[in-house]
Amino acid sequence: MQRPDLDTLACVNTDCQHYGHPGQGNLTIRKVYGKDDIRLLRCGSCQDEFSERRNTALFNTKVSEAKAEAIIDHLDEGCSIRATSRLTKAAKATVARLLKTTGRHAQRFHDQEVHDLRPRAIQFDEQWSFVKKTEEL
Ligand SMILES: [Zn+2]
Repeated sequence: MQRPDLDTLACVNTDCQHYGHPGQGNLTIRKVYGKDDIRLLRCGSCQDEFSERRNTALFNTKVSEAKAEAIIDHLDEGCSIRATSRLTKAAKATVARLLKTTGRHAQRFHDQEVHDLRPRAIQFDEQWSFVKKTEEL
């Protein structure tokens, strides 16, 4: 899978002067690990080391990025957890966990990027889905 350019990534240490500012030239690759060649990065400013997946929806998951993308695509199209599990050959617990973590990540991204809006009209689209599971997975 194509890795993002280092210039598009930023230090994740909130105490660092380069926190959240990509393209500062402060990041270097310490090592590459895992099936997806995930990079362990070091910030030259604060010396903190962190996975390039830190603060992403896929942090601390062993699912390959290709499979995670397939799972998220199926859920996005309205497939149930069971159907997504069958179609992607992933465990139901894995699908449910990715649904929860990607939902939280999307909420944080929304809260970070969308503010101070003054809409004059709002149109809601219909979305039907289960909001609570009826039995254990
Ligand atoms: Zn830093």
